Amino acid sequence: MTEVPNSPAIPSPFLRAGGRNRFTARRGRVVAVEQVSPAMRRVRVTGPEFADFTSGGPADHVKVFFPDPATGELVAPSPVGPGEDGIVRPEGATFARDFTPLRVTRMADGVAVDLDFYLHPSPGPASAWAGRAEVGDELVIVGPRGSRGAPQGAARLVLVCDETALPSATRWAAEVPATTAVELIAVAADEGSWIADYVSSTSGRDDVGVNVLPAGDPDAVAGALGAVDVDAATFVFAAGEASTLIPVRRHLKVTLALPAEQFAVSGYWKSGTAGFDHHAPIDPSDPD
Ligand SMILES: Cc1cc2nc3c(=O)[nH]c(=O)nc-3n(C[C@H](O)[C@H](O)[C@H](O)COP(=O)(O)OP(=O)(O)OC[C@H]3O[C@@H](n4cnc5c(N)ncnc54)[C@H](O)[C@@H]3O)c2cc1C
Repeated sequence: MTEVPNSPAIPSPFLRAGGRNRFTARRGRVVAVEQVSPAMRRVRVTGPEFADFTSGGPADHVKVFFPDPATGELVAPSPVGPGEDGIVRPEGATFARDFTPLRVTRMADGVAVDLDFYLHPSPGPASAWAGRAEVGDELVIVGPRGSRGAPQGAARLVLVCDETALPSATRWAAEVPATTAVELIAVAADEGSWIADYVSSTSGRDDVGVNVLPAGDPDAVAGALGAVDVDAATFVFAAGEASTLIPVRRHLKVTLALPAEQFAVSGYWKSGTAGFDHHAPIDPSDPD
């Protein structure tokens, strides 16, 4: 009988390094506002509490606390203590939504975080705040609690994202190796002619293939994904309006039967729901 030597385990191409960040609430001020496209407004926030802010993954999110739209009062968590892990939750109503820490910039006088807000046509408190944000405005940012990096071994990355997930999409494109081919199926409420420029200028990659589809047709989005050859070396990230993602998730999970490590699907908002909880199942008939 021939002896077969033990072969070393081959690491998965979809391995994503992860870790916890210090979990705290940071109060900061807006130091810059830029209208990066008609639909997208970039806000830079900084303050002494941001000195150790880190964000290690493209799907990281922070909970952003905004002032009460009626009174202007900013009710938000506070840190348990300087340098400690944990937050003290406030009494009273808060106005908070999830956002992607787009970029962390270390400057001579501190650390700044950029957030890109999609200005959706029927704004809730977050969109409305972003639409009129000015230098000097105050915010509180909680998180990111944990981070998971982008896979470093995938040959191809396919992104399915609407406007709210474009900040994350640009991070995915920037955080995979330059040798990973990236394709984006973008879902947009307008004609989306700004998206290719937004993606290349924000990610720093000018080789991302962009296919824009109109919002409101989940089957067309799943159809566009179905036309892409998702082979054994392709990782898929899909995020945006939760109901739109139901057939997308079904395609990945049921039709292609991909292993869980090969894709991630996340509902970022839900049509008709204020402050959608992204932990809620995307497809209530088939929860994770
Ligand atoms: C992990 C994560 C990361 C996210 N990152 C970003 C990001 O970087 N940038 C970003 O812009 N958003 C991001 N979002 C989405 C954002 O949290 C939601 O769009 C949020 O609902 C906006 O809050 P709001 O107060 O403006 O609207 P809400 O008060 O939540 O909603 C009010 C009304 O507006 C509608 N609505 C809400 N969002 C939209 C929308 N996008 N388009 C059309 N109608 C809408 C709702 O149906 C509701 O009827 C992220 C969400 C998650 C979970």
